[in-house]
Amino acid sequence: MDRDPSPSSHEVNDAVVAQDVSTDGTPGTHSSTGSSPSEVQLRNLTYDWQHSSARFKDIGGYDDVKAYLERRVLEPLLAHRDGDDRFSRFSVEPESGIMLYGPPGTGKTMFARALAGELTVPFVELSPADVTSMWINESSDRVKTLFDEAKQIGSCVIFLDEAEHLFGAREYSGKGSHAEDRKVTSEFLAQLTHEDREAIVVAATNRPGDIDRAILRPGRLAAHFEIGLPDEEARTAILRTHLTDVPSSLSDAEYANLATHTAGMTGADLADLVDEARRNAADRDARVLTRDDFPSTEDLQVIATELEPETDDLPTVDDGDNDEDDPRDRDVAVRSKADDDGGSDDSAIGYQ
Ligand code: ATP
Repeated sequence: MDRDPSPSSHEVNDAVVAQDVSTDGTPGTHSSTGSSPSEVQLRNLTYDWQHSSARFKDIGGYDDVKAYLERRVLEPLLAHRDGDDRFSRFSVEPESGIMLYGPPGTGKTMFARALAGELTVPFVELSPADVTSMWINESSDRVKTLFDEAKQIGSCVIFLDEAEHLFGAREYSGKGSHAEDRKVTSEFLAQLTHEDREAIVVAATNRPGDIDRAILRPGRLAAHFEIGLPDEEARTAILRTHLTDVPSSLSDAEYANLATHTAGMTGADLADLVDEARRNAADRDARVLTRDDFPSTEDLQVIATELEPETDDLPTVDDGDNDEDDPRDRDVAVRSKADDDGGSDDSAIGYQ
């Protein structure tokens, strides 16, 4: 976020959103309650709301997480928007609170952007510095402002990065933590619990063990997904995704070879590998990128030995029955499925 989210500028912006401004020719987006604000309207808000061009197809692997989000978020919202009442007939609400956890660079931000892109709704990406202030009470006012703006917009996606700083465990942060931090957590809890909240809140953390379990309960961030290191199948998919628009002669066997020898790498590491290969191909003025533009198998093995995995997990909000349909048990369900069919690598998590 690049603007000061002070409540005073927000009051001025109410009027901007209330008007139906569409002077920039941006194709209109439609929330479940009608038209979503144009780029011009979004620019006049306090927070840096944007439209996202990302889609699920840009994310390699993690098919089970995509399928879940398709079914539980996209389908109900898009059906409602199209006037299809098959979900509302049974009072089926879309999932609107999601916690993603896993090592840095595994695509958690991409998931939030892609969700907004698939829904064609505005998206805002926030780190703790965007909402925490050194001034007493200002941080919780900033949280209120954020959700006020979300309410004006209607259907939208709020992405909260480094969620452990916003939702630090209150029970053991009581003594050491700043009173302001606790107010921020309490304000988020209150805002997330509002019944008429249309905003989909996606939070991400590399330190799931530090999250206040109260935030993970039904009605708040109830769907939990581990976005772990990609397994071999996911690594192949990520490499393919990043080479989609590149002239390349890589065969299936060469993709498989690269995927085999990049165990322990994140999606971000694989994206870097592809960037370097593109540069190598350009340097030699090649017509197509080849396997030789990537590091040799031996060099990849050296890189792999430098990657050190660790593990961490979300606090338990399990009610003991491990029911796949119960949101409190979803992280368990999705993780075990991912281990079986190409979501994430169970060789663990270096979350720092
Ligand atoms: P952090 O925890 O550090 O915020 P993150 O998990 O949010 O990291 P992203 O910012 O989403 O990771 O990913 C960084 C970059 O890595 C992306 O812009 C993309 O280029 C690449 N990347 C990561 N995961 C994937 C993936 N599954 N498919 C394609 N690209 C990926």
